[in-house]
Amino acid sequence: RTVYLNGDYLPEHEAKVSIFDRGFLMSDGIYEVTSVLDGKLIDFDGHAVRLQRSLDELDMAHPSSKDDLLEVHRELVRRNEITDGMIYLQITRGNPGDRDFAYPPADTPPTLVLFTQAKPGMADSPMAQTGMKVISIADQRWGRRDIKTVQLLYPSMGKMMAKAAGADDAWMVEDGHVTEGTSNNAYIVKGNTIITRHLGNEILHGITRAAVLRFAREAQMKVEERSFTIQEALEADEAFITSASTFVMPVVELDGTAIGTGTPGPVATRLREIYLEESRKAAV
Ligand code: PMP
Repeated sequence: RTVYLNGDYLPEHEAKVSIFDRGFLMSDGIYEVTSVLDGKLIDFDGHAVRLQRSLDELDMAHPSSKDDLLEVHRELVRRNEITDGMIYLQITRGNPGDRDFAYPPADTPPTLVLFTQAKPGMADSPMAQTGMKVISIADQRWGRRDIKTVQLLYPSMGKMMAKAAGADDAWMVEDGHVTEGTSNNAYIVKGNTIITRHLGNEILHGITRAAVLRFAREAQMKVEERSFTIQEALEADEAFITSASTFVMPVVELDGTAIGTGTPGPVATRLREIYLEESRKAAV
């Protein structure tokens, strides 16, 4: 693989970052994951806007312009011949040369890394046919989940808890209400109404979420942005998740209990089709 590090395209084994990098020592960094379908980027603009917001919230400088970043994404797709897959982008506060809690001077160059992950046929994932199983766990992350930081230890623990329980993922619960999945936004469906948690500091503002809610409203489906409980989810007709890498994925089981018929529901299935069709059309 060819990867990108601070202005250079390099073979992956030649791309090296300092042990003093703030990302390595303090998880002082942010990231984005953009999907590639048919060699084109899905919702690049949405990811670029959220990236800028994450940087602003953490007083980090943007190491590159949006146009330059788009060009780096495209160049990596070309060099690695990616048809379907993902591009991972990470920016950390760079290498101050030592370990210190205080931020380094603002002119410390950030570390910018991008790499590709090929996922041939990712839009035809078999899981879209069978649906996924989730468990509920306590949400023990920090309070600024709206910033897409690389502090992913608790979500990793959640994935492991799900695996140990024979499930595919975990929905996190705080104050009796579902926040989101370990790496996705969570939804339930009651009748013709799609319910997903409102935006705030408690969840990541999913780029796929924004697009899917827009498509749902355009298709005359009802959308309620509010929090819901595990009990409500257990009594729902359908459930699903969204993320840049899974698009719309049906959820058919929660804590060992079938949701609705226990098979992917019509709303999730239709939203997945609409999302894939519309975002392929708009891909750059
Ligand atoms: N919530 C969390 C915690 C996530 O990690 C992600 C994916 N990175 C999402 C939601 C979905 O966001 P997006 O649709 O932008 O991929």
